[in-house]
Amino acid sequence: MTGKVFLWEMTYEEAGEAFKEADFIVLPTGSIEQHSIHLPLSTDSIRAEELTKYLVTHSGDLRMVMLPTLYYGQSNHHIHFPGTITLSEETYVRVLKEIAWSVKQHGGKRLLIVNFHGGNVAPIQMARLIIEREIGLKVYFVQWSGFANDLIREWAPGVPYGHSGFYETSMILKFRPDLVVREKMRKQEQRFHRERGERQPTRFTAAAYFEDNYITGGIGDPTLASAELADKIIPIVNQRIIEALIEDMKYE
Ligand SMILES: [Zn+2]
Repeated sequence: MTGKVFLWEMTYEEAGEAFKEADFIVLPTGSIEQHSIHLPLSTDSIRAEELTKYLVTHSGDLRMVMLPTLYYGQSNHHIHFPGTITLSEETYVRVLKEIAWSVKQHGGKRLLIVNFHGGNVAPIQMARLIIEREIGLKVYFVQWSGFANDLIREWAPGVPYGHSGFYETSMILKFRPDLVVREKMRKQEQRFHRERGERQPTRFTAAAYFEDNYITGGIGDPTLASAELADKIIPIVNQRIIEALIEDMKYE
């Protein structure tokens, strides 16, 4: 073992050894899509890259190899905003399947997909079934923010924090403060806001296109953002993810 964990830095001999020894081959997934008027198009991909680097280098007893971040995602619902680049659902499923097939060729035991963009969830769920059945590779799936919801809510109770809100803005303030257009950080305009209640909604608020509800492209109030929020939650969420993986590995 060389101690390297990033696939793109390894020689093929090192990769051959690392794949066989790793508990998880980890694929971070992001997007290139509008993130309101104050954040870069790569907001989800920056989070994917940085938080997955943190995970594979703070993985406790689990051995991990990180694949390059999949920067493109499924972003059709943002396509009317300039700069958004999207893969269709069919292409996205296929990309995941072919990455998984490659991982399998080199003796990878488990693929862990760490996702940072809501639009990717449906095609990932479809792909993981196909990968397990057709390729015979175990697929684990982590929606990073799903392990952070309670901590994010504590920071600003009652304020919606999704796309381009105070949570994502806090992460970019931590990792790439130079890319946050601070003079454009302002409360986002939306046509209506629906509280998350007990009952499942029967329709998404922006099912077809994001601008149908979110006029400036973002949600909530980014002026509540701070790099401190990121510093506070990252170690806690990372530990929760590791514990969840260890727990779920018991049921293979
Ligand atoms: Zn985002």
